Amino acid sequence: MQNEVNINGRAYTLEDHAYDVVVVGAGGAGLRATLGMAEQGFKTACITKVFPTRSHTVAAQGGIAASLENMTPDCWQWHLYDTVKGSDWLGDVDAMQYLALEAPKAVYELEHYGVPFSRTEDGRIYQRPFGGHMQNYGDGPPVQRTCAAADRTGHAILHTLYGQSLRHNAEFFIEYFALDLLMEEDGRCTGVVAWNLDDGTIHRFSAKMVVLATGGYGRAYFSATSAHTCTGDGGGMIARAGLPLQDMEFVQFHPTGIYGAGCLITEGARGEGGYLVNSEGERFMERYAPSAKDLASRDVVSRCMTMEIRDGRGVGKDGDHIFLHLDHLDPAVLAERLPGISESARIFAGVDVTRQPIPVLPTVHYNMGGIPTNYWGEVLNPVEGQPDRVTPGLMAVGEAGCASVHGANRLGSNSLIDLVVFGRAAALRAGEVIDRAAAIPGVNEQSFSRIIERFDRIRNADGGTPTAELREKMQRAMQEDAAVFRTQASLEQGCQNISAIWNELSDVKVTDRSMIWNSDLVETLELENLMANAITTVYSAEARKESRGAHAREDFQDRDDTNWRKHTLARLNEAGTVTLDYRPVHVDLIAEGIELAKIAPKARVY
Ligand SMILES: Cc1cc2nc3c(=O)[nH]c(=O)nc-3n(C[C@H](O)[C@H](O)[C@H](O)COP(=O)(O)OP(=O)(O)OC[C@H]3O[C@@H](n4cnc5c(N)ncnc54)[C@H](O)[C@@H]3O)c2cc1C
Repeated sequence: MQNEVNINGRAYTLEDHAYDVVVVGAGGAGLRATLGMAEQGFKTACITKVFPTRSHTVAAQGGIAASLENMTPDCWQWHLYDTVKGSDWLGDVDAMQYLALEAPKAVYELEHYGVPFSRTEDGRIYQRPFGGHMQNYGDGPPVQRTCAAADRTGHAILHTLYGQSLRHNAEFFIEYFALDLLMEEDGRCTGVVAWNLDDGTIHRFSAKMVVLATGGYGRAYFSATSAHTCTGDGGGMIARAGLPLQDMEFVQFHPTGIYGAGCLITEGARGEGGYLVNSEGERFMERYAPSAKDLASRDVVSRCMTMEIRDGRGVGKDGDHIFLHLDHLDPAVLAERLPGISESARIFAGVDVTRQPIPVLPTVHYNMGGIPTNYWGEVLNPVEGQPDRVTPGLMAVGEAGCASVHGANRLGSNSLIDLVVFGRAAALRAGEVIDRAAAIPGVNEQSFSRIIERFDRIRNADGGTPTAELREKMQRAMQEDAAVFRTQASLEQGCQNISAIWNELSDVKVTDRSMIWNSDLVETLELENLMANAITTVYSAEARKESRGAHAREDFQDRDDTNWRKHTLARLNEAGTVTLDYRPVHVDLIAEGIELAKIAPKARVY
C-alpha cells in the first residue's frame, strides 16, 4: 500500500508491510536467524543496507570454533572453560554453556547446508589451533578446535546461508537502510522503518518480532579491521529507543592488523605456526605467556606487543610496530591454508610471506559489548529488581548483541559460532513466543512521526561541519582515548572529547538533499549511530575501575571481582548524557556435565 506524508513541506512516499518477523541485517547472524524463522513457516523479511554476501561476515578468515575432536582430543567442557577464561569471567555462564554445547551441532548443520570446509586426509572437517583454545581446562597443549574453509571461512558460510534463506522463501529487502524501531508506549517493539536507497521511498515494516543483526561498530575507531559498513546502526537504534547498551567498554584489538592499512592477518596464521618478533629478533611472547606463547588470547598478545613497542623494541624506522613471521613455514602449507592472507600481505604491505615478515600492529577488531540479550536473543531492558526483564517483540543477535558469551574478551573463532548458534536460538525462541493466531500490530503513528522527523532533520542539516570531518575527529579521539591501555586521566579526557564531538553533531552539514543513492545522508545517519556507540564506550570505560579482558587500566591493574564482576548498562539521551547502571553476571549452569568449581574465577595466565 502506498501513501504519502508531508514533513516541513517535503513529501515522502510511504509503503507499508506486515510480517511475522523482520530481521535487520544479512550477515551470518541475520541470515541464520532469517533462515530459522522462514523454516518454521513465519512470513519473514530480511532488510539489509548492503547486498547480503557483502556483509562483514564475508571477511572472516580463520574459522569457527566447535569441539568436534577431529584432530586432537576435545570436549564441550574444555570449550566452555576456555570461553569463560577468555571472557575474564565477565561472560554469562548460561549463555557460554549453551554456546559450547550447541557448537558441534551448529557446525554439522552448516556442513549439511553445504559449507565447503577444508578436510583432513580421511575426509573430516579440518580444524586448526587458535588463540586461547587449549586442552585440559587450559593446561594445554593447544587444541585444534577451529573449523576452517582455508582462510575464507566467513565467505563460505555467508554464501551458503544466503542460498539456504532463499530456498525457504524469506523475502529480502536489499539496499534498504533501517532508520529506527517502531516502539509502543508500553515498551513493546512493533516494527522498523527503512529507507529504500534505490528509489527514495520510506518503508514501514510492522512485525510481531524484530531481530537486530546489524553487526559491530569498529568504524568508531580510526584503524579497524572491519568493513566501512560496520557502524553500529543497531546500537544507535537501541539508544534512541531508550534502551541500554551493555559492556561497551570492552573493545577488542586484534594483534595482527597490517601496519598502516589496518586489514586483518588472521590468528590462523599463528595457529599454523607463525610467530611475532621484536626489533631484537626475539620471540617475546615466550616471555609473557610461557605456555600458550603466540597463541595466548588477543587482549594479552595486543598488550604485550604494545609494551614491547613502548619499551623501544618495536620494528621499522619509527620502531612503532612488530613483525609476524610466516617465512619459516612450508610454502605449500601457506598456499593451501592461508592463500587469502598471503595475497593481503602482498597487496597491503608489499610483502612476500614466503620470504619476509609481515609488519603488524594491534588494530580494533571486535565489539564485545552491544545490545543486552538472554541466550535466546531476547533484548533485555532491566529495571530495579528485574535485571533480566525482556523487551517484547525485540531480539538481537551476532556482533550487535551481547548475550554475553564473550564477556570482556572474545576468543578467536568464537564469533562465527556465536552467529549461527544464537541466530538459530532466536528462531527457536520466536517459535515459542510468537502467537501465530494474533494479528500483526499496526504502525504506531506517534513513533513513526518521531522517526521521519529525525530523518528529515538530518537530510536537511545545514551546519558548518562536513560529515567526514566530524567522523574523523571522532575516530581519532577514540583511537587516542579508548585504546589498548587506559588511565583515569586519558578516560576523563576521552569523556570530554567525545562529548564535545557529540555536541558538534548539531553543526553537521549534509550537502546532498536527494533521496536516491544519497551516500552523504547514509554516512551522516551512520555517523549518528557510531556516535551513540562511541560515547557509551568511553563513559562506560571511565567508570570501570579495574582491569579485565580488553579493558586494561594502568591505574587499576588487577581484576576486581568483588566490585566489578558485573555488566555495565549505558543509556543515552538526546542531549548526549550517558547514564550508567549495572546488572549481575549470570553464574549458573543450564545443564549437567561440568562442576561450577571448574570454571570459578581465578588468575588468568596463559
Ligand atoms: C576481517 C575480519 C575477520 C574476522 N575473522 C573471524 C574469524 O575467523 N572467526 C570468527 O569467529 N570471527 C571473525 N571475525 C568476527 C566476525 O566475522 C564478526 O563478528 C561477524 O561476522 C559479525 O557478523 P554479524 O552477522 O553480526 O554482522 P555483519 O556480518 O557485520 O553484518 C551486518 C549486517 O547488518 C546490515 N545492516 C547494518 N546496519 C544496517 C541498517 N541500518 N539497515 C539495514 N541493514 C543494516 C548489513 O547490511 C549487514 O548485512 C572477523 C571479523 C573481521 C572484521
